[in-house]
Amino acid sequence: MTTNSLVGKRVVVMGLGRFGGGLDSAVFAVNAGAKVLATDLAKPEELSKTLKQLEGLAIEYRLGEHRMEDFTTADAIIANPAIPPDNKFLAAAHQAGVTITSQVELFFLLCPAPIVGITGSNGKSTTTSLIYHLLSVGAGQKQNISYNNVWLSGNIGDRPLLGMLDQIQPNDLVVLELSSFQIEQLGRIAAAPQVAVITNLTPNHLDRHGTFEAYCAAKELIFSSQKCSPNNPCVSIFNAEDPITRGWYEKYKSQPGRISALFHPDDVPADTAKVFTLVGRANRANLAAALKVAWHFGLAKDRILAAVGSFQSLPDRLQFVAEINGIRWYNDSKATTPISAIAALEGVDEPKILIAGGYDKHLPFDELGKVIARRVKAVVLLGQTAEKIQTAIQNAGGKNVILRRADSMPQAVKICRELARPGDVVLMSPACASWDMFENYQQRARIFTESVLNR
Ligand code: ADP
Repeated sequence: MTTNSLVGKRVVVMGLGRFGGGLDSAVFAVNAGAKVLATDLAKPEELSKTLKQLEGLAIEYRLGEHRMEDFTTADAIIANPAIPPDNKFLAAAHQAGVTITSQVELFFLLCPAPIVGITGSNGKSTTTSLIYHLLSVGAGQKQNISYNNVWLSGNIGDRPLLGMLDQIQPNDLVVLELSSFQIEQLGRIAAAPQVAVITNLTPNHLDRHGTFEAYCAAKELIFSSQKCSPNNPCVSIFNAEDPITRGWYEKYKSQPGRISALFHPDDVPADTAKVFTLVGRANRANLAAALKVAWHFGLAKDRILAAVGSFQSLPDRLQFVAEINGIRWYNDSKATTPISAIAALEGVDEPKILIAGGYDKHLPFDELGKVIARRVKAVVLLGQTAEKIQTAIQNAGGKNVILRRADSMPQAVKICRELARPGDVVLMSPACASWDMFENYQQRARIFTESVLNR
């Protein structure tokens, strides 16, 4: 598919999204000369933010419903990654011979520059921004460096994927965070990044993928779909500590035209670890992965060191908020899975008071319960999963952990203030998504931060 091939075609953008998931695709299709129909099951009033950004563009809308004939009579459908591939409208369109594509597929088809793609269950955004930071800031004067500009997109950054296509040059480099849904979509056209990194694999999104095996199979496509040849080698970077990705390393490492590497947190040289401001072993693993990429592109040692030293943690990921009366407060609102909250608890050595609980994604809390029982002084629980987390702590024998409940974030902060003593760390690392009480994790972070700062 080329941009020209969309001229005059009937293109349906499926799943406009309250948070604008289909926005980039709709703008792209209009600019490519297509006749665009944007559709979403949500009603116009729920989509107001997204619709405002599309004002003035020649787009037809079908909102609050999907109509079968819109899909079966289209020339092409650009589907939001949140829509499962077995969706009945997509299935019928497929039957009718309609081309089904997605934002990420279009990007991979049309991007003239090599792509560095990062996936995994946890640490994607941190690793992606670390890689971007090292490749851009760490390139220095670009002597002996094979690329020109570096671009960042995916789930992070505010630059829309397709919207930046016309500025990317063939000798640039694109750094992209890729979700398992996007990799699944790319798998349909056997596309993958030239440099692929996986941070780790733990159960996540099983509501969509069904089993952990299916989830892993979707993630593996990032490596199995890479185009590797001796003249233009692909690069595959795996986590040495993760048994599944280690197995993939063994499976792929001898393939001609593929450069494979394993990363381990202990690979980080001592001088580099010293200047890295992010806390915890998990973040050191993220840095180890990023360093493999920086080394691959031949960045100078002193430039890498300077770039690592200037890297700041992303908002809402183990982010330091304030020290008040000797108590340090951290906002880790992005910890939406038990494993990421565990990473945070293991990353901080001081006595800890934890705020946890939220929307129930039906992930097990047994491991989290054990880590809390071992490493935490008090826990303030809120949200749908409060009861489940409490049970997990009790089952793990956490008799000495002080347990409290809160109905709101400001109340949770107030309870923490009463429990905390100088030298303690208060960590809001909920282990759960936010949708039971908040619009998103950013809003949860904002309310927490305001409650901490505005006593
Ligand atoms: P993702 O993009 O995969 O959601 P982020 O980089 O945004 O990952 O980090 C999300 C949460 O996971 C944060 O709370 C962070 O502290 C924690 N985390 C970061 N890296 C890792 C890792 N390698 N393993 C486990 N947890 C991690």
